[in-house]
Amino acid sequence: MIVFGNFISVKMKYKHIFFDLDRTLWDFEANSSDTLAEIFAEHSLNLKCKTFEFFLENYKELNKQYWIDYRNNRVSKEVLSWKRFYDALLLCGIDDVALSKQIAKEYVGRSPYKTKLFPEVKNTLEKLKSDFHLHIITNGFKEVQFIKLKQSGLDIYPKSITISEDVGKPKPHIEFFESALKKANANAYNSLIVGDDLETDILGAKNYGIDYVWFNPEKEITKTEIKKQINCIDELIDIVYHTL
Ligand SMILES: [Mg+2]
Repeated sequence: MIVFGNFISVKMKYKHIFFDLDRTLWDFEANSSDTLAEIFAEHSLNLKCKTFEFFLENYKELNKQYWIDYRNNRVSKEVLSWKRFYDALLLCGIDDVALSKQIAKEYVGRSPYKTKLFPEVKNTLEKLKSDFHLHIITNGFKEVQFIKLKQSGLDIYPKSITISEDVGKPKPHIEFFESALKKANANAYNSLIVGDDLETDILGAKNYGIDYVWFNPEKEITKTEIKKQINCIDELIDIVYHTL
């Protein structure tokens, strides 16, 4: 029996909660920006680029497109890692493959060590960990995602971690979710997916018939049909303890 506040439930629907990592628990944008600002300064990129913000906005847009291409097998991991910087530098008037590859190396080596999480992440996981099996499902590079989890202190929570690079197929592919559920010894009925990405987390959950919560910290408006969304991760508490 679970006692939570004044609420008593004999049987809650969810036993497993699968969290996306980047932009859901780990504050990807903040950590990425901090890393890029350091790199920008160290390479004196201000001599060519108008401002750091100009470089950052271009990079973010390009990076997003490269990740879509990567998910659709249009670009390799190796090319994605340096070409996003090459293209961003080109917009600053810098045509330099070697520098792009150097920056790519520095970025991937450094950014996972950043530790900014979204508000209330640790408090929420602490509250949930005794009543639910918590898991991580993430599209990303294996060597990078494990460092993020450990450095930010999130590694103590998940019972399983499923990374797209291991599965061979990223979210939203069905194979990814099959693999994650199997690894967690969970099923579609007793699982909940929490993620920020409508294309990967939410579409994936819908395709597989798993309940989902859209993490939407920026309070974006979408035409996509969304049954449940939260703006802060601690709003999950109410959902998971009250869904029977
Ligand atoms: Mg995400």
